[in-house]
Amino acid sequence: MSDALSRYSRREFQQLALAAFAPSTRHRTLAGVRFEVIRNGRSKTRAYLLIHGNEQTAREVLREHMKAHRGTAHLVEQDTRMVPVGNGGKLDPNRLFSRAGAERNLKRFNSGWSDGAIARELHRLDRERGKLIAALLPPRGGLLVTLHNNSEGYSVKDEIEISNATSIRKPDEPHEFFLATAKADFEALAKSPYNVVLQSEAAGEDDGSLSRLMAARGVRYVNLEVELGKRAMQHEMLNWLEANVP
Ligand SMILES: [Zn+2]
Repeated sequence: MSDALSRYSRREFQQLALAAFAPSTRHRTLAGVRFEVIRNGRSKTRAYLLIHGNEQTAREVLREHMKAHRGTAHLVEQDTRMVPVGNGGKLDPNRLFSRAGAERNLKRFNSGWSDGAIARELHRLDRERGKLIAALLPPRGGLLVTLHNNSEGYSVKDEIEISNATSIRKPDEPHEFFLATAKADFEALAKSPYNVVLQSEAAGEDDGSLSRLMAARGVRYVNLEVELGKRAMQHEMLNWLEANVP
């Protein structure tokens, strides 16, 4: 075989391999929130989520990740943290996973709204929340991976007190950490060189966050939290998770 031919064959093979991994993208509105849905084949173990649209590093890392990993990813299309609701209102999409959390968040960020307007919005969310949750859930026994970025001081230090277990390997880099809801996932991640906390019980105030709901339902969930802009670090930590968490 000539050198040129073997090179061509190799390239052709690579193109075939890439085609097998070609992700498809569509758009879907769930509970009033617009999502980009990237699907790359079927995975028995993985689902992915970007719930805060302004967390651009996480968005870039997840989009790139889906080119080479199987599973379904939902990415909020809005480019701000809050999503529009009702008549000119706004809501943090990571507070709508319970009625109590949504009510508190709507009241906080829509101070001009009447009780009736709040009640109408809560009623709409009650009707549509189940469909959103069903779309985001991983396959049975699988893992939901969510990616977040922080930029305003939030760090693993805020989670330590309310966690069931912690592994703080990088105390000087508190903005980078995993939060897991399942003990086995925590134990796998605790072997990494990164910070990890376990929150397996839905303790404290019901804030309407997805992590709290997944803990309450016994769904395997890992949140990968990295400071905004630290793209290489978020990519590295996500790859560590893929290679070491079943
Ligand atoms: Zn976030």
